[in-house]
Amino acid sequence: MLYRELVRVYEALESTTSRLEMTEILANFFKEADCSSLRKIIYLTQGQLYPDFYPQKLGIADKLLLRAISFTSGVKEQIIQDLLVKEGDPGNVAQKIFQEKKQTTLFSTPLTLERVYDNLRRIAEAEGSGSQDLKIKMLADILHDASPIESKYIARIVTGKMRLGVADMTVLDALAQAFVGKDERDVIERAFNITSDLGLVGEILCSEGVEALRKIRVSVGNPIRAMLAERLSSPEEILEKMGGRCAFEYKYDGVRIQAHIDSQKKIKLFSRRLEDITDQFPDVVSALREAFVSKDVIIEGECVPVDINTGEMLPFQEVSHRRGRKYDLSVAIEDYPVRTFLFDCLYLDGVDLTESPFLERRKALEKCIRPSEDVRLSEIRILDRVEDVERFFEEALKDGCEGLMAKSIGEDSIYRAGARGFLWIKYKKEYRSEMSDTVDLVVVGAFAGRGRRKGVYGALLMATYNDKEDSFETVCKLGSGFDDATLAALPSMLEPYKLQRMHPKVRSKLEADYWFEPALVMEVLGSEITLSPTHTCSYSLIKKDAGLAIRFPRFTGRFRSDKDPREATTSIELVEMYKRQLKKIEE
Ligand code: AMP
Repeated sequence: MLYRELVRVYEALESTTSRLEMTEILANFFKEADCSSLRKIIYLTQGQLYPDFYPQKLGIADKLLLRAISFTSGVKEQIIQDLLVKEGDPGNVAQKIFQEKKQTTLFSTPLTLERVYDNLRRIAEAEGSGSQDLKIKMLADILHDASPIESKYIARIVTGKMRLGVADMTVLDALAQAFVGKDERDVIERAFNITSDLGLVGEILCSEGVEALRKIRVSVGNPIRAMLAERLSSPEEILEKMGGRCAFEYKYDGVRIQAHIDSQKKIKLFSRRLEDITDQFPDVVSALREAFVSKDVIIEGECVPVDINTGEMLPFQEVSHRRGRKYDLSVAIEDYPVRTFLFDCLYLDGVDLTESPFLERRKALEKCIRPSEDVRLSEIRILDRVEDVERFFEEALKDGCEGLMAKSIGEDSIYRAGARGFLWIKYKKEYRSEMSDTVDLVVVGAFAGRGRRKGVYGALLMATYNDKEDSFETVCKLGSGFDDATLAALPSMLEPYKLQRMHPKVRSKLEADYWFEPALVMEVLGSEITLSPTHTCSYSLIKKDAGLAIRFPRFTGRFRSDKDPREATTSIELVEMYKRQLKKIEE
């Protein structure tokens, strides 16, 4: 297949912000595509070469790209560099440079999708000495034969800035529309949720049909998309929702891990965002290896930092030190040892347990480990009385947890991969304010600082995620709760996401000074939720021409780097919080 055909689709996708139109464009293209190319098409459209959980990522430095463009076009690097400063987008730079040069050079062979993919793969995999040269060579090789418009997308993907805004759910909708129709979408989604590999799902659907997808099972090595919890603010509501009785577990405040242990006892750890984080937690890996009596398992748990002197659990931030490369890992492990609390078992000895009820999974979990100092089972109790839940909640707080996680024990209490639902309900600490819970918001813009904040951001424009529309809707300007170090660090943290204009998936009535790709998620606590004509969160849903806004928002100090922007608090969740708040006032 020619790369040009895919680029035509990119152009069409870029010209719309409507999710429906995007789905339509992709579905039409998928229908025509060769099944053997579909996998690559799906990855490339999302700016990737592999599923998310593969460690190899594209994202070479702009400098290397500029060198490759200079090498191919003969234009001086400095001129290209100046153009990049002006344009901001490496794609536009490549297109402009080649538009001028290519009118006369027509000696090129049309690029195939396979060739582009192959070169990009070699670029992503190149390591060690000589890798820079190899990367430039591979890039120059395809740029030489690329048309200006093709070079635009090559430049974007190779620098990790594809940004077509095609969400996983849009690809799933398009696959359903192209091959089976809406009724079977669930089968496709389920296959994705247990393999986390859209390319694989697309290829199987195209070449073997929906029946083959139905037969897909979880497998060790392929992360399963995390099951998520809804929230309620009282034990009464929780018990009522759960049919009067359910399991309650401590809700640990740490980092979620999904551990895959294969038949050789080789262990891989995945984060909640399905990144391979095995290398960050060698101590967890060896503790798990010691504790496991079974092989071939997939289990989930929370890694919590503990105080080396008192053995007490510490706040989550202490373990996030591991993520920064600045820290020496062995020092971090010594200063902030972690303890793992396991709470689920999704696969054991060849049996996929994701369709089994919760208590069966818990039994499997208890069977496959010998708990140790560092690997433990989550505290659990099956309760049916409000007073008992309150007491257990107090104990959880006393032990340094965030609250409780209620889990359904009904026949239908399966592991709902990739879904947020009421089979799990979180019950967190009440804060002394009208807004009883924190929210996780996405940074979409920023305002220049004044006075003492001159030179840094004065405030950030924060948004909720609208999961129906796949858009980000503003809900507040966040200006408090920052210490000086955070204020100073924010510009460089946000630099990789900086855009020339508002991101197509953002809905804002405010004109920010800077715009960002929705990426960074921050935990925020406000005093209350109000109606406001300036913000777009759930606009006109409660009242015509008004959205929801958070008053007096404060950053809690917690960056939710474990959350994807599409896992932020949703606009509908905010509506529910607003309604609950109203109910409280009425009472
Ligand atoms: P939140 O991040 O506030 O949406 O809460 C959900 C998170 O709580 C999960 O993703 C887990 O990382 C964490 N968690 C802590 N303890 C448990 C538990 N016992 N069961 C399930 N999840 C838990």
